[in-house]
Amino acid sequence: MQELEAIIGLEVHAQMNTKTKMFCGCDNDAFGKEPNTTVCPICMGHPGTLPVPNAEAMEKAVRTSLALHCTVNPASHFDRKHYFYPDLPAGFQISQYDYPLASKGTVDYEMEGEKHTCRITRLHVENDAGKLTHRGDLTLCDYNRAGTPLMEIVTEPDLRSADEAVAFAEELRRMLIAVGSSDADMFKGMMRFDASISLREKGTTKLNPRSEIKNLNSFKALERALIFEGNRLKDIWEETGGPLKHDITVGWLDDEGRTRLLRDKETATDYRYFPEPDIPPLQFSGDEVEEIRKSLPRMPAELKADYLALGLMDAEAAMLVDQPLLRAHFDAVKDVTGDAKRASSLVLTQLVGFLKAADKSPAEGPGTDHLRDLAAAIRAGTISGNAGKDVLEKMVETGKSPREIIEAAGMKQISDTGAIEKLVDEAIAANPKAIESFKAGKSAALGAIVGWVMKESKGQANPKMVNEILMKKIG
Ligand code: ZN
Ligand code: MN
Repeated sequence: MQELEAIIGLEVHAQMNTKTKMFCGCDNDAFGKEPNTTVCPICMGHPGTLPVPNAEAMEKAVRTSLALHCTVNPASHFDRKHYFYPDLPAGFQISQYDYPLASKGTVDYEMEGEKHTCRITRLHVENDAGKLTHRGDLTLCDYNRAGTPLMEIVTEPDLRSADEAVAFAEELRRMLIAVGSSDADMFKGMMRFDASISLREKGTTKLNPRSEIKNLNSFKALERALIFEGNRLKDIWEETGGPLKHDITVGWLDDEGRTRLLRDKETATDYRYFPEPDIPPLQFSGDEVEEIRKSLPRMPAELKADYLALGLMDAEAAMLVDQPLLRAHFDAVKDVTGDAKRASSLVLTQLVGFLKAADKSPAEGPGTDHLRDLAAAIRAGTISGNAGKDVLEKMVETGKSPREIIEAAGMKQISDTGAIEKLVDEAIAANPKAIESFKAGKSAALGAIVGWVMKESKGQANPKMVNEILMKKIG
């Protein structure tokens, strides 16, 4: 048999982090709220109510489209997509069918240091359904999520393995977070995947009927489901001598680690799409789109390149791209020190190390302001770099500000001019040889004298002032 290759495409649903829902004024943040408390007659699909598109959601969807290098279509509209299910109060979803908001984009992603590109077919906007919880014979319905704005992002079948699908999905998640359109929190189901996979003989170009795996909620599930289904299709190929006869839809049983047939093509649901009569067509002028394009932040891949250019290691740059809070810390500290290496040592080595030891997340650690103050205290010479490390450890442990810790521990450096002058005089008297070689042009000899002062003062003398006063006396 000829070698087979997998052809994979994804449909990604991402919840948008807008203040209100897609077509009504209900609170879009239902996290931790009682079931069915963030609902109204519109998102409950009562007859006679009128949906009004959320301007914030449309703007965020346009921003995302542009970040994915899509063309925002000058005209698009909403359609009703009908299906009967208890999580859908209106009996239809308001989605976009033949005229989506945006089409034809690309996403570059990296895998094992190599650049790959996946084409984006389209991005459209729709509303989410409610959440059903099955308990024995009972089904509990919570409609808080019904009406949450969703972006559906559909790719071309450009992915060739489960690893590629995951690498692409991870990059897409970074981009959504960078754009600010979705929090893309996987644990809260804010990003979900449907993955289509088919096989073909390597070297051929025909697309064979595919298996669509529905509702994958994590990168791990995406990876496992694609590996499982790919192997299953291979077995079918070996048994029948070819691909599937028609498209199928399967579900992923995470506990059992296998897929299960949901429906054959023949019985596929007919959604009876038609244009949503209650919402006028959407129109975007070139100027509007360009305004939004100008406000796009730097994308994760660009950010990573920036940090690499500052001399950071690949893993350090990746950590900053993936963790916005550490990035804010790093940027603030680097602003103070003007030195990427030093900022990286303070934030990515020391801080991350202390957080790990204390079993805390960055959000539970010191705030950016406190880290900036610490860096400023080191830079101003209030404390030495070594003392700074101890202060940082205490900041992580206690949550106190660097100032409080420095003062309480009496760590403050000696910055009293008179006291330092006295120490410097003693140092000059005690190190005649060093003074001679300095005067003979060996500037390195200065280090020995400064070192003597630091030792005498038990590390508390302000090294910057010691240097200055020393230079004044012998320079
Ligand atoms: Zn509502
Ligand atoms: Mn959809």
